Amino acid sequence: MDTTAVQRALLSLGYDPGPVDGLPGRKTTAAVVAFQRAAGLKPDGVVGPLTTAALAKAALAKGGPVQVVPGSNDPGSGGGGGLRIVPLDWMPAAQMSRLIVHWTAGNHTASGLDRSHYHILVESDGKLVRGIPSIALNDARGAKTGYAAHTLNCNTGSIGVSLCCMAGAVEKPFKPGSAPMTKVQWDAVPAVVADLCRRYGIPVTPKTVLSHAEVQANLGIKQKGKWDIARLAFDPSIVGAAACGDLLRRQVQAVL
Ligand SMILES: [Zn+2]
Repeated sequence: MDTTAVQRALLSLGYDPGPVDGLPGRKTTAAVVAFQRAAGLKPDGVVGPLTTAALAKAALAKGGPVQVVPGSNDPGSGGGGGLRIVPLDWMPAAQMSRLIVHWTAGNHTASGLDRSHYHILVESDGKLVRGIPSIALNDARGAKTGYAAHTLNCNTGSIGVSLCCMAGAVEKPFKPGSAPMTKVQWDAVPAVVADLCRRYGIPVTPKTVLSHAEVQANLGIKQKGKWDIARLAFDPSIVGAAACGDLLRRQVQAVL
């Protein structure tokens, strides 16, 4: 997490994080707690995915500086830096072309099997879990042994992010199953995707940031009836892969 970016965002929102020094001291933590209270988040002072997303959104709405000044001492950020929540060592150097978002069709927490298929998992409370394969194994210049197999015939150059949910779900008529996707979980995804897009220089387009359910239509690569993510269990008004994908991309753009 980039504390400098958090401090800048807090400052732009009228909170007092103390000096913008990149150190998460007492004043910064107090400002984070105050912001969390105002935003209706759990006031624990921890800047996780939800707080990051809320900070970015609020700072953006205010026209404030969401991004850190380019060329800051933020190693490996691939440029702009900004509010970061994915640990740097989860994002090793690699050439990546696109990012595909899934659900695991499993439970609300990441199992060993879940972790073997994806690079990053988001649990139902918004917590991030690192998958077993490194992103570098799915390099666009050629996938290496042990790569994350998350999308049929589309793993080379593809980052796989997955929401832990939707065990036993049925597409039509829609039944969310025993582990429905939570709003907290979905709301944590844009900041994660934005981090990865910044790090690997992936543009946010329907061909480069998409859900598994959009792969066949958007990339022309046949999948076997995959419908992750064509439904949001917490919001039945949004139906279909394109609607969910467009919403995700809008939310990612708002964080970037
Ligand atoms: Zn999938």
